[in-house]
Order: sequence, then structure tokens, then C-alpha cells
Amino acid sequence: MARRKKKAIDPYSFWELDMPDAADIRREKNKARDLRKTRWWQQQTASGCCHYCGKEVGSTALTMDHLLPLSKGGRSSKENIVACCKECNSLKKSMMPIEWDQYCEKCRESEKIS
Ligand SMILES: [Zn+2]
Repeated sequence: MARRKKKAIDPYSFWELDMPDAADIRREKNKARDLRKTRWWQQQTASGCCHYCGKEVGSTALTMDHLLPLSKGGRSSKENIVACCKECNSLKKSMMPIEWDQYCEKCRESEKIS
């Protein structure tokens, strides 16, 4: 019997990527540090607003966050990096992906209301 083809886009498959080793993570962390010095990062933080909750905390208070964490096989690419406030950054680390999704949804809803 033929094996079923893997779906090309499955948001949850991202969380099941192979675990990167320590050297991979170190390399990506260095890349992230370099990105912080670029004009691109200045543009990301220029608004001073958190990517997730939308709160205005000022450009210097914004932290760099990997949408898909390095520990889960994420990369330090511009597509995978956003500027967010410290609060969201630490919340994201402590939450399960599904809890985090719900949190983001709540943020988007409250933004609509205000
Ligand atoms: Zn935030």
C-alpha cells in the first residue's frame, strides 16, 4: 500500500520538528545577535509596539522573539523573528503552543474592541 503523502502545510507539524543540537542553537543565537544590529531590526522596533499584544512599550523595551523557538528547530531568519514586550516573551516560554495561540487570539480581540 502506498504511503500517504504528507500534507505540505500543517501548523502543528512545526512543533514536531527534530530537536536541534546545542551547536545548532548556538549558531542561531549568534545569528539573532547579528540581526539585532541591523537596520531591519531597527525598523521592527521603531513603532515600540509588541508584535503579540500590541502594547506600546517603547523601542528599547522590545525583545527579540523567535516565532518558532530555537529549541524547537526554529531559525534566526527575518521571517521567524518578531519584536515583542518582555511580558509576552516570558509568557510564550511558559505556555504550551495551544495556550499561547489562545492568548494571541484574546489579544487580537481586545485590540478590535478598543
Ligand atoms: Zn506583548
